Amino acid sequence: MSQCKYQYPQDAKSKCLHPIWPTDSKYCIFHSEHPNKKEEFDRYFLSELGSNKFRRGEVHDFRGFVFPPGTEIKRTNFDKRVWFDNARFQGNFYISDNCNFLGPIRFVDLEFLQPDTGRSIILDGCVFNQGLSFKALKKPKFEMGSLSICNCNITGRLEILKITFNGDFSITERWGSNTEGHISKVTFNGNVALCDECFSGGVSLEDIRFGKSSMVIFGDRAFSNRTYFSGIEFPENLNLGEKVFSGNVTFAFIQFNSLVEASKFDCSNPISLTLVTFSKGFSFLNARLDNSMDFVGCEFYDICNFAGVTIESPDKLQFTSNCYFHTPSYFSNIHTSRENQLSFERASFGRVPKFVEIS
Ligand SMILES: [Zn+2]
Repeated sequence: MSQCKYQYPQDAKSKCLHPIWPTDSKYCIFHSEHPNKKEEFDRYFLSELGSNKFRRGEVHDFRGFVFPPGTEIKRTNFDKRVWFDNARFQGNFYISDNCNFLGPIRFVDLEFLQPDTGRSIILDGCVFNQGLSFKALKKPKFEMGSLSICNCNITGRLEILKITFNGDFSITERWGSNTEGHISKVTFNGNVALCDECFSGGVSLEDIRFGKSSMVIFGDRAFSNRTYFSGIEFPENLNLGEKVFSGNVTFAFIQFNSLVEASKFDCSNPISLTLVTFSKGFSFLNARLDNSMDFVGCEFYDICNFAGVTIESPDKLQFTSNCYFHTPSYFSNIHTSRENQLSFERASFGRVPKFVEIS
């Protein structure tokens, strides 16, 4: 029986080790795009998942496989790294029910063959011991429907790079170890939900686009370690949990289109905001700063309220490099114990802010 003719896009030397499937003239059952292969595919694929059948050296190699709609991998232990590079999906794809990944697992340059039906990946109740990545490397980007990561334990890095989600993106009921999030050049056209303490190992979100009607929910302490946000315009419907930012926070080139309040920050860590636009106001009413908060070149289009804020010594609340207050803003009853704990350097006041005694 002759071998499958599948050509690995980034690896001309590798050959598929499986025989041509008699129903297909060229490819094995795993690489065949035949629309009616599900029953046979499941029989050959699911029974030997964790075995040597799909092993290539140190990898469980599912590159270029064409997965029929509703393929579900369950209760399997993968002791090596797992590659789904260039995998193609004819519908939804599930990994669930106590699958255990000892090595890293990656989904690179995926393709969804029936764009109007199932386009989603659902990971439910699994353990990822060395991280998980979804990214476009050779393709400029890839588009998919939803990604749902539910009730999973992810240790290490969760990386999402150059993907457009036309459905929802959610990480819910995460449990266990430190997850470090790196999400970059991603478009979310659906809703986004990240659970409480989602990224306890730190997070960077860079170059993120949201659909106009997207709803975004970040749970309590969702970002409980280092947080770096850059190049993001949040939609109007943004729901932030309590102390959602509870580690060091750096924001650069961010636009908030909803009111941002003090309760969203754990102010015992440094908070740095550069070129951040607050379209709907910023309220730090009666908050206590146990660390410094620096606004650099930020713009406040609606009321900025720092009334009653207590700044612990020697911390500072600083507005530098042409921060601009477009509407009257409140800095009354600021409590400081030393001079210069509140400072304005070249700040511009479109309309005079209401400074009242600084005690
Ligand atoms: Zn093949």
